[in-house]
Amino acid sequence: MDGPSGSGKSSASRGVARALGFRYLDTGAMYRAITWWMLEQGVDLADPAAIAGRAGEPVLAIGTDPDAPGVSVGGTDVAAAIRTREVTSAVSAVSAVPEVRARLVAEQRALIGDGDIVVEGRDIGTVVAPGAPVKVYLTASPEARARRRNAELAGTTVEAQRAEMARRDTLDSTRKADPLVMAADAVELDTTELNLDEVISEVLRLVKE
Ligand code: C5P
Repeated sequence: MDGPSGSGKSSASRGVARALGFRYLDTGAMYRAITWWMLEQGVDLADPAAIAGRAGEPVLAIGTDPDAPGVSVGGTDVAAAIRTREVTSAVSAVSAVPEVRARLVAEQRALIGDGDIVVEGRDIGTVVAPGAPVKVYLTASPEARARRRNAELAGTTVEAQRAEMARRDTLDSTRKADPLVMAADAVELDTTELNLDEVISEVLRLVKE
């Protein structure tokens, strides 16, 4: 399940995994966890070489239970810390670095193993699992995406959210390494007018096809 932020990927992916009895992997959480660690270490995120030089250092652990997908760095639980505004605004600079991507893509493939898993991200259908049997690309209007994100975060406005998402989308879709694009064989699903149950049902229909 690929798509931009606020398209409903996380809730839909978890719901689909639960319905199928599959595991679930949030690859965005892995990029966020590395970003959190780089910020903690004081790495200069304006310097891609500095990021690349330390990309292999942090020890990440991520769970695949859709009901409790924990994430930790060096044994520290970072599930809440990776959702802060500071990490959100820094993550695109870190995820654009090829050494970071190479490391995480390898770990993601190892976690995917033989399958029976719902994986959400930006490059799953194109890079991480090009042979996935079902590929869904979720979209939604910029307004709907900003509204959803806004409902999840305190202390921000829909307009501020929309600006931040537009900035992150531009960075994610114009970077050189594995930019956010829809896989040629993915099914695009516009969730603007759909509620969560409708999105999950539609994806389950695609799985059963
Ligand atoms: O999905 P989420 O918003 O948590 O992802 C955070 C960031 O991680 C994205 O903005 C993007 O820069 C990066 N990302 C990525 N490739 C993925 C998943 C996330 O580059 N597969």
